Amino acid sequence: MCDSLSRAASIFFASKPVDKARSLIQDAATEKFMAQQEDELIRVTMVGTGTVFNPDRRGPPLYVIRKGSKPPLVLECSEGFWKRVRDATGANLFLLDGIDIAITHAHADHVGGLFPFEVGRHCARWMRGLHGGQVRVHGPHQIRSGHEAIKRAHLPEHRTEKLACSGLRFQPTKPGLSVVLSNGFSLEALPVFHGDPVIEVNAFRVTIDGVVIAYTGDAGWTEDTAFMLKNVFRGADVVICDASGGAKSGSARHLDTLHAGALAKEHDVQTLVLTHLTDFDPPEALEKACREAGFEGDVIIPNDGDEINF
Ligand SMILES: [Zn+2]
Ligand SMILES: [Zn+2]
Repeated sequence: MCDSLSRAASIFFASKPVDKARSLIQDAATEKFMAQQEDELIRVTMVGTGTVFNPDRRGPPLYVIRKGSKPPLVLECSEGFWKRVRDATGANLFLLDGIDIAITHAHADHVGGLFPFEVGRHCARWMRGLHGGQVRVHGPHQIRSGHEAIKRAHLPEHRTEKLACSGLRFQPTKPGLSVVLSNGFSLEALPVFHGDPVIEVNAFRVTIDGVVIAYTGDAGWTEDTAFMLKNVFRGADVVICDASGGAKSGSARHLDTLHAGALAKEHDVQTLVLTHLTDFDPPEALEKACREAGFEGDVIIPNDGDEINF
């Protein structure tokens, strides 16, 4: 028994787990991120613009909205969340406080990174002696209930194992109401339809110094539910828009760009940013459908990592 214990101990220290954990968080304030703190631009980083259909070309949905030295608002929490945000923006979400994460719905391609993030943030902060701090997670109730189910499955001892160092707090959204985030942005959640009423889905409208950035989440088109999307598009300067429906599918699960263009035209949207792309239709076809609907504003079809500034 002594032999096996000492062997286990020597393996543990040979791999220097403490040093590894420290190396994960040493780049908390990279030069890139700190340099961007100095200006007053609104920065939207399109960290992930893809779907499950094209993982070799694009990552799953993930967006970061920042301004100046304020902590970021992160939209969605898809797989590989922490590393992808750090690589794209320099922001280390294991260390920063006052982060808000807004998640539209409980589908895995939107929330699959949340539990690993909670565990990773807890461990990284615990190793460094950091207690307290706060990450608020905004989204429908299904986000929280799903997270608890995943925790029961992947951390069976979770009733005794506390992950308090993560600082994760759920803040269920109340559709139609706005909350003020830690960074002063206003976040309004609105219900949208995603092909099946069982799925609770929010769209979000973020207001920063009078600029309105709307994000549809996953939302399809039906005559009966179009009013929900109109509430999302209304008066927005920018709409980050689900375009998984391609150019003209008429899907009830995901918007196509013909309907997105029509909504953008009807509501005087300045800029339409197409995302959650399948790449089934080429970018030219997506934009063409927007133009056929009469939309004359800017159409942006980004790649992962592209940053849009206002
Ligand atoms: Zn979905
Ligand atoms: Zn999706």
